[in-house]
Amino acid sequence: MSEARLGSETLVIATHNAGKLKEIGALLAPYGVNCISAGSLGLPEPAETGKTFVENALIKARAAAESSGLPALADDSGLCVAALGNAPGVYTADWAERQWFEGAPGRDWYMAMGKVEGLLCEKGPETDRSCWFACVLAIAWPDGSSAVYQGRADGSYTWPPRGTMGFGYDPVFVPQGGSETFAELDPEEKHRISHRADAFAKLVAAQFGG
Ligand code: IMP
Repeated sequence: MSEARLGSETLVIATHNAGKLKEIGALLAPYGVNCISAGSLGLPEPAETGKTFVENALIKARAAAESSGLPALADDSGLCVAALGNAPGVYTADWAERQWFEGAPGRDWYMAMGKVEGLLCEKGPETDRSCWFACVLAIAWPDGSSAVYQGRADGSYTWPPRGTMGFGYDPVFVPQGGSETFAELDPEEKHRISHRADAFAKLVAAQFGG
């Protein structure tokens, strides 16, 4: 792994998701980085065949760096539940997949949250509900070097889901030391303590720090 500094004013964000591009672009704008998405460059989306968040983030970042000739940043994230052997982990989004959801194939987060809850209940009422959100950011350079930054937010799994803000598994995640779920918290507060904030702080310190 290289810890070399970015070495380019333009960074390809290896996502086809406009929301992610906007969020990451805003985080990096203060450092003079111009972010463009892999989607807008027409780059293909590689299959996420890794067994870890690090592998998947590197697959996406390397594919974008190779095909664009520019440094590329990718992220991979998910929820890990200790009592379930850290599942759903890299399969967090897959657990929400439904062939038929609201009229089309899609993701049903309530079903996914219920599946985790069902598995915890099967283990009994005293089961440890510790869990964490993980976020891995990978930067890959066209010369084949790369750097990885890992963030996490620890908490516990609660049921029933509470709150209407955020996305994904936010309504069942109570961060350590708190009583409200991520979906009940003010979004600014969530962004201050989230796994993504933790990983970005490490990336910024390494790439743009003094
Ligand atoms: P990906 O990194 O875009 O593949 O996302 C993995 C999945 O993890 C998402 O679809 C969400 O379900 C879940 N996830 C990641 N970060 C969060 C978060 O901050 N809140 C709730 N769910 C999250």
